[in-house]
Amino acid sequence: MTRFEFATAPRIVFGAGALRDAGRIAKDFGHRALIVTGRSSGRASALNLMLEEQGIARWTLALAGEPKIEDVERGVRLARSEGCDLVIGFGGGSAIDAAKAVAALTTNGGEVLDYLEVIGRARPLTHSPLPVIAVPTTAGTGAEVTRNAVLASPEHRVKVSLRGPRMLPRVALVDPELTCALPAELTATTGLDALTQLIEPYVSCKANPLTDSICAEGMRRAARSLRRVFDNAADKSAREDMALASLFGGLALANAGLGAVHGFASPIGGMFPAPHGAVCAALLPRVMEANIIALRERAPGGEALRRYNEVARLLVGRDRVGAAEGVTWVADLCSHLKILPLHRYGITAGDAPAIVAAAMKASSMKANPIELTPEELRGILERAM
Ligand SMILES: [Zn+2]
Repeated sequence: MTRFEFATAPRIVFGAGALRDAGRIAKDFGHRALIVTGRSSGRASALNLMLEEQGIARWTLALAGEPKIEDVERGVRLARSEGCDLVIGFGGGSAIDAAKAVAALTTNGGEVLDYLEVIGRARPLTHSPLPVIAVPTTAGTGAEVTRNAVLASPEHRVKVSLRGPRMLPRVALVDPELTCALPAELTATTGLDALTQLIEPYVSCKANPLTDSICAEGMRRAARSLRRVFDNAADKSAREDMALASLFGGLALANAGLGAVHGFASPIGGMFPAPHGAVCAALLPRVMEANIIALRERAPGGEALRRYNEVARLLVGRDRVGAAEGVTWVADLCSHLKILPLHRYGITAGDAPAIVAAAMKASSMKANPIELTPEELRGILERAM
């Protein structure tokens, strides 16, 4: 019998120009906002204006790259000393995840390591975080509707999550116009992360009927628009499709889990200075291929293989195609989008044993539709290099 649970942000506001509502929405939650942004905090000037119009005082935490434990600690000190009652994440997944972590740690005592999984003490968050409004400016991670924050610990060479149902932002404010300024390379890698986050929950062993329909619609939109938006950055309807694909990926992964691509991406992201989207993009066709081969060998008439056939139909846009054509379609898309192999980020064959060992322990790997052997995982990595 079907039984599932689905949790997401209480309010999702989507549409071109939606940023104009930011001030009015923020006023319902507080009057002293900490704005967490990426490197170029100047891009948040329109947001600042909306907040100023509503009489909301503002402080900014700008991140230099993907969020580290010390960035979160800096944000918590700032939020506490200024008495902030609201956190706004404005940027890519890094800024939004950092906002979620700062909001959680400001109200829950102790240090970041008390709550981190793997390298920390994994204590649950007992107090409600400060309210978070998440405003993505890339179309990739879906972090506006996920209940974890990925943080890097450079001394441990890992990326780990702060996780819990209370981590969900209170409002996801998704304005596709904010993604129009993204350079082509970032459009490509974040877009392929979004596509990965639609395919993996769809074939996941934790999929449910609600995530299935969300993934199918997201894949349809990403399939028709990712190539278009890479070729023409100003294509507004394609930007809208990709913002939806990213949002849908976040809704799906938070409720159905991911798979081997993200199982690899997590240790690789901790060990090498490679952007998350670029790593996922290089791995996606190789993981699909290995999963399909393994399923044909060990689970031939199973549900997962049927799902890979459906992925191919959704991506290629024709009924009479099989799973393998889906892989070819994704590989062709990756080459059109100029995705680089993993060796370009300094990953070599000598690193494979350590990466495979860490990937086997990653939480995402548990949702992969079939358990892959260490040899199969090594094969995936070598082909993505
Ligand atoms: Zn991802």
